[in-house]
Amino acid sequence: LLTCHDVRKTFGANLVLDNLGLAVGEHEVVALIGASGSGKSTLLRCINLLTEIDDGTISLDDEDITDPRANPDLVRRKIGLVFQSYNLFPHRTVLDNITLAPVRVHGRSPADARDQATEWLDRVGLADKAKAYPDRLSGGQQQRVAIVRALVNEPRLLLLDEVTSALDPELVGEVLTMIRNLKSDGMTMLIATHEMGFARQVADRVAFLDRGRVLEEGPPAQVLGDPVEARTRQFLARII
Ligand code: ATP
Ligand code: MG
Repeated sequence: LLTCHDVRKTFGANLVLDNLGLAVGEHEVVALIGASGSGKSTLLRCINLLTEIDDGTISLDDEDITDPRANPDLVRRKIGLVFQSYNLFPHRTVLDNITLAPVRVHGRSPADARDQATEWLDRVGLADKAKAYPDRLSGGQQQRVAIVRALVNEPRLLLLDEVTSALDPELVGEVLTMIRNLKSDGMTMLIATHEMGFARQVADRVAFLDRGRVLEEGPPAQVLGDPVEARTRQFLARII
């Protein structure tokens, strides 16, 4: 479904993505792990076309989305990205937060977007919050709304960047449960995370990013439990 081929990205003299290759299959969940600064967020931003790559290709369903002729709005409708900080608009209700972009950017009918948002809120247990403002919600609830906002576009692929790291520990669980349910529904996801326990539980595959390259990838039990590369072992020893 997603293929990154020889992706290269520099910021000035800083080589952040170094001929990176990574593929994600349909319905697959891949956890992206690696030290701070290894390029996880940059990769997700490049896939979402928020950051332009210097070289290589990124394709979605065999279409080269990094081709200059690709329409970024269309690509972002197919690839949802949720950040660590949920960035909800404070002066808009939950429902408006979710439907604003689909209606204004993607040209969806307001009624259609509203119906779908309501259905999703119901599914994630937030139906009663539709008319509330974000500051009335807990961090975990806000993050779930941010994920719903990405889901109303019915994306082919969902990118999650450390979506639980800004949350109080007791609120992490509800967001992880939501992600686990999305996996059961067959959602294809690429998830940057520092939570190895979660990666082990939810990912079909773990990719270890080291200095802008996928150094090692495989089933969670192998990469996290019995890594081949010394640098993977060092990384895991440092964080666990
Ligand atoms: P973390 O685990 O801390 O989130 P990360 O793996 O997501 O780290 P990135 O945020 O992708 O790492 O950063 C990779 C490198 O790119 C870092 O050296 C960072 O300083 C640099 N970088 C990221 N964004 C920019 C930018 N907009 N301009 C310049 N340098 C950047
Ligand atoms: Mg990051």
